Amino acid sequence: VKDLRARCGALLDAFGVDGAKDGATDPELATRCDYDDDLCQSVVAVVDDHLDAVDHQLAEAHVAGAGGYTGPAARGSAASALGRDANKGTKNAGARNSFVSRRPQDSFDVPIDNSNVPFMPPVPVNHPDPSSYVPSAGTHPLREELDDLIYPSSVRAPPSSPIAPAPTSSTVCEFIDTPEALEDMAHHLSSVDEIAVDLEHHSFRSFQGFTCTVQVSTRRRDFVVDALALRTEIRAALGPCMADAGKLKVFHGADMDVQWLQRDFGIYIVGMFDTGQAARVLELPRKGLAYLLDHYCGIKADKRFQLADWRIRPLSDAMIEYARGDTHHLLYVYDRLRQQLEATGLGDGSRPRVDLIKTTLDRSRDVCATLYDKPVTDQLTYHVDYRKNRDAGDLDLPRLAVYAALHSWRDKTSRTEDESIGYVMPRALMLRLAREAPTTPRSLLAVTRGDSPLVAKHSGEIVDLIARAMAAGTPPALPPTGWGGIRQISRGKET
Ligand code: AMP
Ligand code: MN
Ligand code: ZN
Repeated sequence: VKDLRARCGALLDAFGVDGAKDGATDPELATRCDYDDDLCQSVVAVVDDHLDAVDHQLAEAHVAGAGGYTGPAARGSAASALGRDANKGTKNAGARNSFVSRRPQDSFDVPIDNSNVPFMPPVPVNHPDPSSYVPSAGTHPLREELDDLIYPSSVRAPPSSPIAPAPTSSTVCEFIDTPEALEDMAHHLSSVDEIAVDLEHHSFRSFQGFTCTVQVSTRRRDFVVDALALRTEIRAALGPCMADAGKLKVFHGADMDVQWLQRDFGIYIVGMFDTGQAARVLELPRKGLAYLLDHYCGIKADKRFQLADWRIRPLSDAMIEYARGDTHHLLYVYDRLRQQLEATGLGDGSRPRVDLIKTTLDRSRDVCATLYDKPVTDQLTYHVDYRKNRDAGDLDLPRLAVYAALHSWRDKTSRTEDESIGYVMPRALMLRLAREAPTTPRSLLAVTRGDSPLVAKHSGEIVDLIARAMAAGTPPALPPTGWGGIRQISRGKET
């Protein structure tokens, strides 16, 4: 009840109601309602759900004018009752009229394919004979190119005297959101040997997630591409450059970027230097980009927007500047890293000489060779998920059946609604529901505690499936006996 008071107070406060917050901390009211009372709990749950719905609507409609929506408002935290903290940069005034008016994926040219089958790699851009190409899940379309890859000598040797790029304050950043501008950009990229690339991504309100921006920097220019507006055009514009072994792509920590480019644009990378891999080869004290920028450029990176909602449009100047900051210095960092890799690899008499630039390039090539791993679920996926729960080992077989049923409902719902599993039913809620196995929509809402609008919306359906699972008494599929999971279940505790 106190929690609700605080949230209501914060809401009223946000609307400019005087003294709302003071009221929220008034201890009197909480004592008038016995929280252990069943009815009281249900009321709390329902009001909580409504507050969550308001939170969601407000955050998405961007009433606060600060940033986008980054996730459910933290419960009980008055400050985050509008879920607005994460995007609230000090220079964020430019975002005052920005918001996520509708889910971007609802207007993608090609609908998202959330079917429960593995991802099929598309024919590579510039394939000499696309009609002869036979796609195969699990096979990298540019496998041969990666196997035969020989990096240009300019990559394998360190530069003599790296030149830091002009500061971002004295150079413009080009925001690309039209096909014409994208073509100009591609033309510029065709004239250079090395580019730095980074992506910003959204995953909360989407099953598989999608790329929101693609940042590219050359030695002279910085681009931030609107990957929502140009989703269809990016493949033809950037694909050839990404697959060109003669053109070096510098990424920092490319593991996810490689997969996102495959999934969203059918783009595969050949010829990459991952500064994150270099940091590992050098065993630097920290491997993050923030450390490299500080160490080599004396720049204190501001990671404030890392978890921002990159779907919002228009992007504020501050968010565009942030995005650009992830690639602006990266080619210079790449130069400095190669110098250090060379120096460290020389050895010192006690250690043999090693080619650490080659080691880094080999590891970067391995990153390029990874494939987008689309979530595919089968009858036992629920159990793998269950085992990941450190404190989940206490479900008996009927409740494990409930867990399996909820898992299956969550998977189906996430795919059809195109929402993340964390949005549809966070794992902690799934576990609570399995443990308590509520038998009525009302008691289900009390367990839900506003953690999921979709669970609340489908409370009747979920109560039914819980009842059926309890009646069945055992999940439709169990791991083979002798497998670790089952011994633990029969023992009834996690070891
Ligand atoms: P970055 O390479 O740091 O620019 O991150 C790229 C994208 O990865 C961001 O737009 C986020 O969607 C996601 N991301 C980065 N860091 C995190 C994190 N700590 N937790 C969850 N998602 C992250
Ligand atoms: Mn990145
Ligand atoms: Zn980034």
